[in-house]
Amino acid sequence: MAPLTGARDIQALSLEQAPLRAGLDVSAELYRLIELMYPICRSLTGAGVRETLALLEQELGLELEVTEVPTGTEIFDWHVPQEWVIRDAYVADLGGARVIDFAASNLHVVGYSVPVDRRMTRAELDQHLHSRADLPDAVPYRTAYHADTWGFCVADNIRAAMTDAEYDVVIDSDRIDGAMTIAEARVVGSTDHEVLLSCNTCHPSVANDGVSGIALTALLARELARSKPRFTYRFLFSPGTLGPLAWLARNEATLDSLRHGLVVSCVGDAGPLTYKRSRRDVSGTDRVVQHVLEESVPGHRLQPFVPWGGDERQFCSPGFDLPVGCLSRTPHGEYPEYHTSADDLGLISHQALAKSWDAYLAVLRAFDANLIYERTNPKGEPQLGRRGLYRHVSAGLPGDSERLERARLWVLNLADGGHDVIDIARRSQLPWTLIASAAAELHEAGLLVLRDTVPTTASTPTSG
Ligand code: ZN
Repeated sequence: MAPLTGARDIQALSLEQAPLRAGLDVSAELYRLIELMYPICRSLTGAGVRETLALLEQELGLELEVTEVPTGTEIFDWHVPQEWVIRDAYVADLGGARVIDFAASNLHVVGYSVPVDRRMTRAELDQHLHSRADLPDAVPYRTAYHADTWGFCVADNIRAAMTDAEYDVVIDSDRIDGAMTIAEARVVGSTDHEVLLSCNTCHPSVANDGVSGIALTALLARELARSKPRFTYRFLFSPGTLGPLAWLARNEATLDSLRHGLVVSCVGDAGPLTYKRSRRDVSGTDRVVQHVLEESVPGHRLQPFVPWGGDERQFCSPGFDLPVGCLSRTPHGEYPEYHTSADDLGLISHQALAKSWDAYLAVLRAFDANLIYERTNPKGEPQLGRRGLYRHVSAGLPGDSERLERARLWVLNLADGGHDVIDIARRSQLPWTLIASAAAELHEAGLLVLRDTVPTTASTPTSG
């Protein structure tokens, strides 16, 4: 096992000791941020994304490194499309009354629609209407990033009531040479090893699948900036698919530093916390998240990796195969309101946001504390009493002290350079926080040395 690499100061205050706030103290601020971002008309590119990022800078004081990736830039098998500009869009009856109106909801126009301005028959218009018969009051969310087309999304009930022979149809839009905007916040830790949190900035007025992930990611970035973490944390705000691909292309040379990653989406609804594993299935991220959820989140769900869903598809493509999973509540696509106007603020609760926050912080703390130790002298048990680490009278101790003693003995037995803190917690069935503090104490006493953190290889060694 290699010695600890990338460490600037292994004694640095870890997340475990940092004074970070609990979910109940943060949920009102998370909700307010969601309310502020929800009305903005975002897309793959354009003013709405920039406005959202500016709002995060203003409201939270986040220092974002904003990158504009120019139209036409090739990114692996893709290229950045033209920037979309949308000013207005409507379908009006011949009396001038707007039956479908972008001003009422930005979901009404298909994202990236090309301009149109003419009178047409109801039958011709119908070729360009999208509605959901199963959700007759909801407006679907649709995009056409890579096609020269236009369309309107409308509640099925409204569509059925549109019985005039002709309508006036206007989409006041442009596609111009511009850029795709991605942004990153960074909290520099005491090592160069990195953790990535990634969220989408491309959804218009979609609350749970869209802005809840942005809000949680942004507030976590600000919160961690108050601590001195061991890992360097990178928070990516970018449009789906192309944003992460652009980030991967720009960071390809240093991806070996990435030890853990999570895609943050759908974190505000009432569903149970759900973890979708990385492609590796047994990456360090998968083991830590699974353990934290099993230890502290009753009713959580674990799902295997599948090559569809969110941006984990890009991070887990075979050319990267990064230890990136997705921690959400109800995963996108699995709740009826998904990608419709019914995914609104009413779907989001303070309580769910608070629980998501607590789970994320617990996972990040566990990432940070999940060190690998090795005994300085592994032959026999060390004499703990001489070091003040063992009771002097051998009986009658309260449960907590006894558990701490057992944690010390487990650490001393499994600290062979091949087991990390989570391994020891699982084997001992003691809380990982207790194992981590026992290990820190034994390290302080000179009985352990630190080895590298979670291996980047696919599986975790089970013996030294
Ligand atoms: Zn979505």
